[in-house]
Amino acid sequence: MNNVQPNPFVIAEAGKCIGCKACELACFAVHNDHNGVGAAAGTVTVPVIPRLHVIRTESFTLPVQCRQCENAPCAEACPVQAIRQEEGTIVIHEESCIGCKGCAMACPFGAVSLYKAYSNGRVVPQIQLKERQHSAMVRSAKVIAYKCDLCRTRDHKDGAMGNVPACVEVCPVEALSLVHPDTSVARSRTAAAMRL
Ligand code: SF4
Ligand code: SF4
Repeated sequence: MNNVQPNPFVIAEAGKCIGCKACELACFAVHNDHNGVGAAAGTVTVPVIPRLHVIRTESFTLPVQCRQCENAPCAEACPVQAIRQEEGTIVIHEESCIGCKGCAMACPFGAVSLYKAYSNGRVVPQIQLKERQHSAMVRSAKVIAYKCDLCRTRDHKDGAMGNVPACVEVCPVEALSLVHPDTSVARSRTAAAMRL
């Protein structure tokens, strides 16, 4: 058997999205629930950094996020092998990232963004690099790449909808869904066969 089991991914329907950004906030909250940042209103001490981004045009709004590509061009572009496939998800190992932007440039979906790194609500400083602020030299902030990881570190048992990412669970108009390509293709084949 040479069949691969394609990676699942989250996809959005433009016709449904109302641009409320609940998905962005849920994404931020889930990725910070281990350190208390964003656990409740008033505890947010860092910028809200989501791993999907709601795009607005004149005619539609739509969240854009990682497709968990089988041949991940982001991983190909990473010079320090910080991006790996793990259990059906393309994962950025933030501790290894050097902020070179290669993955962001390589991704055809614009799914990777670079932001300052935070740990327990505080910006992570560079080990070596310094910058001038006013008259003093201070350590620069470490910058790393962020993207959707399908909420892989989340305790899914807490989710009302079971094993789905937080953005899918929270969307009030069900514009987002977690797609399992092999299941979807099998369903399409069956539907096509029944139409013959
Ligand atoms: S970040 Fe972009 S290139 Fe990498 S797996 Fe996701 S969609 Fe594909
Ligand atoms: S920004 Fe980080 S994850 Fe992206 S290619 Fe560079 S080192 Fe790798």
